[in-house]
Amino acid sequence: MNKNLIINISHPLRAITSYKKLLFKHRNFLIAPFYHAVYDETPDFIKHLYTPRNFDCFKKDIEHFQKYYTLLETKELKDLTSNQTKFKKPPLFLSFDDGLSACLPIAEYMKQKGIPATFFISPQFIDNKSLFHRYKASLLISKIDSESGKNLDEVLKVYKLKNKSYLIQLLRTITYKTRNILDDIAKLLNYDFNDFLANHKPYLSKNEVLKIKNMGFTIGAHSIDHPEYILLNEKKQIEQTIESVNMIMTLFNEKTSLFAFPFSDVGLKQSFFQSLLKYGVDFTFGTSGMKQDSAQNNYQRIPMEKSLSSAKNILHSEHILYAFKKRLNKHKIERL
Ligand SMILES: [Zn+2]
Repeated sequence: MNKNLIINISHPLRAITSYKKLLFKHRNFLIAPFYHAVYDETPDFIKHLYTPRNFDCFKKDIEHFQKYYTLLETKELKDLTSNQTKFKKPPLFLSFDDGLSACLPIAEYMKQKGIPATFFISPQFIDNKSLFHRYKASLLISKIDSESGKNLDEVLKVYKLKNKSYLIQLLRTITYKTRNILDDIAKLLNYDFNDFLANHKPYLSKNEVLKIKNMGFTIGAHSIDHPEYILLNEKKQIEQTIESVNMIMTLFNEKTSLFAFPFSDVGLKQSFFQSLLKYGVDFTFGTSGMKQDSAQNNYQRIPMEKSLSSAKNILHSEHILYAFKKRLNKHKIERL
C-alpha cells in the first residue's frame, strides 16, 4: 500500500491513539528512519524519484528524534541483538543512503548536535565516477519536460513512441538490467552524463567521506552500483554485497560491517542471508518500514522521503500500523 495513503488514512487514528503509549509499548523495537540528503531546492536528478526534506523540516525531525527516542551509535547495535539493553525510549538508528555530496553539511550539523548516524555508500559512485541509473532517468525526464524539436522527435521515432509522455513512462520503468537504454536516449538528446557528473558533483569524494568518518560517523556499504537485488541471481546478490562491504571497510577503516540494500530486500531468500552471515557481515538493513524480519541481523528501516509529512506523523503512523499488524500476526517478514 502507498505510504502517503497510510499516513493519510491513519490521520484519524493518530488523533485517538496515544503516541506516548505506543512508544512505551515498542520501547525495545529498533526504529530506523533513513534519508538520502537534505536540499532547500530539489535537484533535477532527484526530482522525479523522491521528496527530500529542506533544512528546516530536517531540523524539526532531528528535534523529534532527540525528544522521543534513544539515538544509537553503531557499536550499540551489538548490545541490541544480545538483548541485554532495556530502553526507556525506543532505540533509533539514523542513516543516509547513496553518498550524495549534500550529506557533508548534514554531517556537520549533526556533529554539532551530537547525533550519531551511518552513511551507506556505493563504491562505484565515490568521486563521481558514475551515476546511479534512476538518477539518470530523473535527469532525462527533466530534460524531456522542457524539450521539443529534432532530437526529441528522433528518440520518439527510434523507440516507436507516440509522444513524450510515453517516453517519460518508459524512463520510469528502466531498471539496472535495461539501463543501457538511458545512455542511448541521452546520446540522441545530446545529453552527457559525464558532463553532469563533472559540473554538478552530486556524490561525495573519497576525501569528503573520510571527513565525515573523522567527524565520528559510520560508513556502511550500499552495493557496488545500486542494482535492484530481486533482478539478480543469488551469486550476483552475494557478490554485490560482499565486494561493496569489503571495499568500504578497507577504504574507510571500518570495524563493523554494515550494509543497506539498494531499493529493498523484498523477496530475498533465507539462504542468501545465511551466506552473508557466513561471510561475516554484521548487520543488514531493508526499507520495508516498521517490521520484524526472520533473517538474522536484518533490520527494516523507515523511508522518510515519500512526502514532506513530519517525522512525528510518519513515525506515529508506523507505530499504529505495527501494533495493528502485530494483532493480525502480520508484523514479521518470513523468507523462503
Ligand atoms: Zn540508494
